[in-house]
Amino acid sequence: MEAGPAAAATPGIMSNARWGTKGTMTYFDSHCHLDPMRYGDDLPGVLERAQAAGVTGMAVIGTRAIDSEAAASLADRKPGIVAAAGIHPNDAAEAEPGEWDRIVGLVRSGRVAAVGETGLDWYRTTAPPEVQRDFFDRHIRLAQETGLPLVIHTRESTRDCLDMLREAVARGPLAAILHSFTGTAAEAAEAVDLGLFLGFAGMVTFRSAAALREVAVTVPLDRLLIETDSPFLSPEPLRGKRNEPANVIHTAACLALARGESLDVFAAATTANARRIYRCDAA
Ligand SMILES: [Zn+2]
Repeated sequence: MEAGPAAAATPGIMSNARWGTKGTMTYFDSHCHLDPMRYGDDLPGVLERAQAAGVTGMAVIGTRAIDSEAAASLADRKPGIVAAAGIHPNDAAEAEPGEWDRIVGLVRSGRVAAVGETGLDWYRTTAPPEVQRDFFDRHIRLAQETGLPLVIHTRESTRDCLDMLREAVARGPLAAILHSFTGTAAEAAEAVDLGLFLGFAGMVTFRSAAALREVAVTVPLDRLLIETDSPFLSPEPLRGKRNEPANVIHTAACLALARGESLDVFAAATTANARRIYRCDAA
């Protein structure tokens, strides 16, 4: 997916009432898991703290049918939230009969903005590789059939994911995000070449992650997304605590500094990118 002129970070996008107008600095957490199973009674507090921090946009991502459905109903109720429906590669072997059909139904219902999360995980192979590949392929084809973007999990699998995505792109248009990117600069360049977006999570703020920051610096600003992957992996200086979308501002500050960009330019661009890929301005 190429950046069109309308995709630029214009004041018009910032003043869209649905997405909030408070201040000029707004952020979009492009990947989080906010289902009630994970946050319980604290979910309203989580959303309030996000709003107070300027995180006016959030993509809530499913990993099974049940949390995909919860994400969709949250998106139905809350302005600024979009949902994705999918079965996580680590859960692929545990998918129940009919569960995939529930994902397909949700995606075709028009209630979700994306398909996923899906992908390949060669680090934690709780599902056999051939099952993961089968589910990844189904999600890819569903995204291409519906025209919705795909949300992709990679872990020690960037090379194999890129190979499957290259085949998919040869078949037809595909918009996709490699979320919580941890690949090399060469893989990032290849992903950009395929038209993909790259999401960076809290890990990129860790002191030990200098190499990953260097990779993030090479990604064109119009393909970059920030995310928390809440409730997992809080960024510095909150490492070790349960994560939540408000914390995406720390990842933004760290990456803007590493890239030599002002925080307001970086926040506006990554917010515009997220709205573009999740098509939040279509309504
Ligand atoms: Zn995730």
